Amino acid sequence: MNPYQPSREDFDQYMIPIYSPAPMIPVRGQGSRLWDQGGREYIDFVGGIAVNALGHLHPIVVNALIEQGQKLWHVANGFTNEPALRLAKKLIDSTFAEKVFFCNSGAEANEAALKLARKVGLKSGIANKNKIIAFNNAFHGRTLFTVSTGGQAKYSQDFAPLPEGIEHLPFNDLAAVKAAISDQTCAVIIEPIQGEGGVIPADIEFLKGVRQLCDQYKVLLIFDEIQTGMGRTGSLYAYMNTPVVPDILTIAKALGGGFPIGAMLTTDQFGKQFVFGDHGTTYGGNPLACAVAGAVFDVINTQDVLDGVLFRSKLFVESIQKLNAQYQVFQEIRGKGLLIGCVLNAHYANRAKEIITFAAEEGVMALIAGPNIVRFTPSLIIPENDIQEGFIRLGRALARFTQEK
Ligand SMILES: *Cc1c(COP(=O)(O)O)cnc(C)c1O
Repeated sequence: MNPYQPSREDFDQYMIPIYSPAPMIPVRGQGSRLWDQGGREYIDFVGGIAVNALGHLHPIVVNALIEQGQKLWHVANGFTNEPALRLAKKLIDSTFAEKVFFCNSGAEANEAALKLARKVGLKSGIANKNKIIAFNNAFHGRTLFTVSTGGQAKYSQDFAPLPEGIEHLPFNDLAAVKAAISDQTCAVIIEPIQGEGGVIPADIEFLKGVRQLCDQYKVLLIFDEIQTGMGRTGSLYAYMNTPVVPDILTIAKALGGGFPIGAMLTTDQFGKQFVFGDHGTTYGGNPLACAVAGAVFDVINTQDVLDGVLFRSKLFVESIQKLNAQYQVFQEIRGKGLLIGCVLNAHYANRAKEIITFAAEEGVMALIAGPNIVRFTPSLIIPENDIQEGFIRLGRALARFTQEK
């Protein structure tokens, strides 16, 4: 009568092999620590890829889940619900936006944004205003439309024929945008910091120039803040660190703190061009997800937590610099707030995966962003002593890594 005890080998047997998970299976989390099946403890510098922004089992969020879980989980979208309306108001009160659409993931938020941009283009009265400008190395999700908009052909080429009318340009190249944009363009989609593409921040001048071109050609500017939003960079959204305001903002990841939810935010002018029946989702904006996200939002949207991101960011960067002085593995540390990318130097080129494997063995979880970049996206409220302990462990990992070969 022993219950079935899953093992890592079961993954290979049962799961479609699109992931290559670590050898251990996490079973429990608390704050910025995780424990595996054997009771081994790990410091979490990954935070579910910028999702667990308040760590694991934050009491306020757990409470919101339990409270809503005992009230109402789901209603059909023939009905609205209180948690969705409360969350919508919070998102609107804290941004340029006046209208919200809820969905379940980042890809769905971008899918909605791109479809809305096409609809707005159609309604503009300008013939064929349906071209989308996106950027090399961008990541916008895995639906066919969003993966085609993303800027890494290896993620989309096997699924052709792909949606048409999407052009990819070099990131941060304003001249390229100027040359490509026209009356036929309906949208430009940008990550203010490319996350999956290697933690590459957009230049302010580039963003300002793109905004001007979008205004000139009546093009919707979409900011994909699925990774950079919800306090990750030290302000509630990364666009708030810039003089630029987008027309559409997409968020997900940290919005639910680990509960699946995404959102597309926009102005009245554009939001109302989606009309009854134009778009939809069964789960999107369900009361359980929105209640959890509402609690996450309230905790993150405080000066205390946002200032804490910049303080912790400094600790991270100083700790990385200190380790790097000893081991000389990185040539550059970039990003903002608690979205940090460390670029390997030529001697260790493309070996980021080995580093995070050693790190996990030493009890600290880290992430890659492509083969050449070690990435950190920890909880925004990770305790100082977890940061210290995490870097002691990372030091042991780098010692082993640099001694190899
Ligand atoms: C993670 C991510 C997405 C996709 O989100 P999903 O929830 O996995 O669909 C889209 N854009 C960016 C910038 C992301 O980081």
